[in-house]
Amino acid sequence: MNSLSQIQPANVGIAKIAPYQAGKPIDELKRELGLTDIVKLASNENPLGCSPQASAAMQAELAQIGRYPDGNGFVLKAAIADKFAVEMSQITLGNGSNDILELVARTFIAPHQSAVYSQHAFAVYPLVVQAVGAIGIEVPAQDFGHDLVAMAQAVREDTAVVFLANPNNPTGTCFSEAAFAAFMQQIPSNVLVVLDEAYVEYFPEQFNSLKFLPQYPNLLISRTFSKAYGLAALRVGFGLASSQISDLINRVRQPFNVNSLALAGAAAALADEAFVERSRVLNREGMAQLEAGFTAMGLTWIPSRANFIAVKIDQAGRHTSQSVFQALLQKGVIVRPVGGYQMPEYIRVSIGLPEENARFLTALAEVLA
Ligand SMILES: *Cc1c(COP(=O)(O)O)cnc(C)c1O
Repeated sequence: MNSLSQIQPANVGIAKIAPYQAGKPIDELKRELGLTDIVKLASNENPLGCSPQASAAMQAELAQIGRYPDGNGFVLKAAIADKFAVEMSQITLGNGSNDILELVARTFIAPHQSAVYSQHAFAVYPLVVQAVGAIGIEVPAQDFGHDLVAMAQAVREDTAVVFLANPNNPTGTCFSEAAFAAFMQQIPSNVLVVLDEAYVEYFPEQFNSLKFLPQYPNLLISRTFSKAYGLAALRVGFGLASSQISDLINRVRQPFNVNSLALAGAAAALADEAFVERSRVLNREGMAQLEAGFTAMGLTWIPSRANFIAVKIDQAGRHTSQSVFQALLQKGVIVRPVGGYQMPEYIRVSIGLPEENARFLTALAEVLA
């Protein structure tokens, strides 16, 4: 009997997908190396955890766990609408903002159409594009950031969606309001622009993208509760767009894609501004701590507006992203190798608690010595 399945993927893009490489889980490293004292700075998680108010809201919600969640997510949508001054009909809730990205691809990109994104951009963009059998157009970055002029020029007749990340992961780079405004003017109104703002809470100086929504019915802004709100395991994010765009996505969305604990926890998290402010302050201090450590080691880095930083670990061809990642694992420190992002000389490290940052810096110095 032939043990090889004859079943083929729906399109050649699926066979070519490089599976998403998530940050290595702490428990996995424990199992593999028998280590107990592990620091994970690999997935841009909030080292403070989440708001105590979010925890309490989830605890309270547990009593109702036997019931299906509200498929319309009324309580969370009402909180989002209130906070960001949008209509509830403009909101799409997602099982993480990755769900929003995937829903966008399934709703708006037909097989053989194309989607545009930047070099060094978040890995989920090419993944969702390939999964629907579409063509990804990767535009060369400029100083590791998005080249919005080139990206606008890269839009073709068959382009359905452009993905932008601001700040971008894994580079931490940002573009300006003027560059974005000029970009939007160049984009045909039948092309959807996805502005992924997963880290926006860490950079309050960033321009207010929401004010572009009334002018551009082809703009979708995505946000997440996984980063500054500290709810990565809960899987909840949201998209803000015109009602027409939201209505179309809503037809593709699974009715219960966001669970009841997530709905309750996220709504409570949104109300706890003080927690987000504490997270911002800790992040700013941690960023300064890492930059000072890198300077002391003679390393350079890409200036970051997010809660992580990409540091150049190789000045002379002695180290690679993967080798430094592996060597740090042996010391119980998990960072993110970014060779897959065409950045083989860099590693990405998330900002942790002061003692976690110090532990990472010590381990890095030993590895590079
Ligand atoms: C972390 C991240 C996300 C958010 O993922 P979730 O699915 O919401 O956890 C989205 N975009 C970028 C650029 C990210 O780095």
